[in-house]
Amino acid sequence: MLELPEVEVLRRDLEKEVVGKRIKDVIVETPSIVRPFHRNRPELVKALEGRKVEAARRRGTVIFLDLDEDQTWVIDAGEHGSLHRQTATEQAGPDTHLVVTFTIGGAIHLSEPGNDPSIHTGVVATETALEAAGVSPDALDPLDDNPTWMEFGRFLADAAGPLKLVLTDPTRIAGLGPVYSDEILWEAGLRHDHGSASLSTQEIRRLYRAMQEVIVLAMKAAGSSLDDTEADAAIDDDGEAADHLRVYGRAGLPCSRCRKPIVRTRIKKGIYTYHCEQCMI
Ligand SMILES: [Zn+2]
Repeated sequence: MLELPEVEVLRRDLEKEVVGKRIKDVIVETPSIVRPFHRNRPELVKALEGRKVEAARRRGTVIFLDLDEDQTWVIDAGEHGSLHRQTATEQAGPDTHLVVTFTIGGAIHLSEPGNDPSIHTGVVATETALEAAGVSPDALDPLDDNPTWMEFGRFLADAAGPLKLVLTDPTRIAGLGPVYSDEILWEAGLRHDHGSASLSTQEIRRLYRAMQEVIVLAMKAAGSSLDDTEADAAIDDDGEAADHLRVYGRAGLPCSRCRKPIVRTRIKKGIYTYHCEQCMI
């Protein structure tokens, strides 16, 4: 699934390759992806065709492509969706739900396996885009907001919950999910159930540094996988952990810090954590 680092790499790619281009043709293969922004496919086609892309922004894992006439194209790739740049002549694959081509060449394909995609996309007035996309206005975006470690410390004290749940709560932090919350906690040496309000100054700084390091490393990994046209590959299709991950998807494998096997624990419904019982406190 896409989390903040992969989406930021995509945003930078779109900023370089799509901003300044005008949209030519729009093909919506799957009607459900236009909701809740539009009632039907023709509404999205009409809103996109002929518009020029003026900026590429991101908040959490949602991409906002600002168009002319104060409109914004919202792209939420959902749980398992992905976005690829393609040549204008590339045929839509079986998992492609939206194809958008540009007048001076190139195309964007929105894809997700299965017939019931979690992708949502539509065009809204720029000033209402964040709200329309359901992005929590109070959530901290670790990259976009670039807090100081002291601001981050105050944020953790206010949040006052188990670290894993604070890091993955979209009303508190925008863009972190199951993968990088586990990676950040392992890097910081802090357990998933350590209370966010009871961290020492040293632990806050460790968590802050871990968050920055993990995001930067993941962006490098996503950048290199983008070159292989596999931008969405945080984990492979067969569930194998990607090379840059230290704990996520590695249950039973030795911890790369202390060699004790990594364990996978259910925290609550739908939320699991990969962690080391020995070297995280
Ligand atoms: Zn360990």
